[in-house]
Amino acid sequence: AMRHLPYFCRGEVVKGFGRGSKELGIPTANFSEEVVESFPPDISTGIYYGWACVGNGDVHKMVLSIGWNPFYRNTKKSVETHIIYTFKEDFYGEILSIVIVGYIRPEKNFDSLEALISAIQEDIEEAKRQLDLPEHLKLKEDNFFHLPEGKIENNH
Ligand code: ADP
Ligand code: MG
Repeated sequence: AMRHLPYFCRGEVVKGFGRGSKELGIPTANFSEEVVESFPPDISTGIYYGWACVGNGDVHKMVLSIGWNPFYRNTKKSVETHIIYTFKEDFYGEILSIVIVGYIRPEKNFDSLEALISAIQEDIEEAKRQLDLPEHLKLKEDNFFHLPEGKIENNH
């Protein structure tokens, strides 16, 4: 799972398929199909942690899921980023820049909504801890997050 990491990526935030992530208090910013297609085809599905920035805003911690997209009958992947920060407004249409730093766990099915939510809360705590390590903190300052606006270059 770590072979492709750190993985740098940016692209537009598009409307998801209404899984109700926001209703669970865990909104996930979805990348377009085009951006997902640009990922290494053999990247493992599951939950990852890393850094994220919207437009030329601040860089925040994030957890990310690479999963199977139900909209395409699970034949295509989806990539969804939950930024660990409370935004005042939605940011559909904006450019999201991320660096995927580490892997947490594979995808799982949960017996209940409560079990799902508590697993995600644990993922968030794990991401926060990992990203405070010096080797991971340094990626927050990567030049990737300070490129001129409008420039879209994946995994430079
Ligand atoms: P969708 O199915 O359209 O992806 P979600 O319920 O997953 O809907 O909500 C995702 C949207 O919420 C994002 O596209 C973004 O505009 C907004 N949003 C607000 N706060 C956050 C956050 N902390 N992390 C990710 N997205 C957020
Ligand atoms: Mg979403």
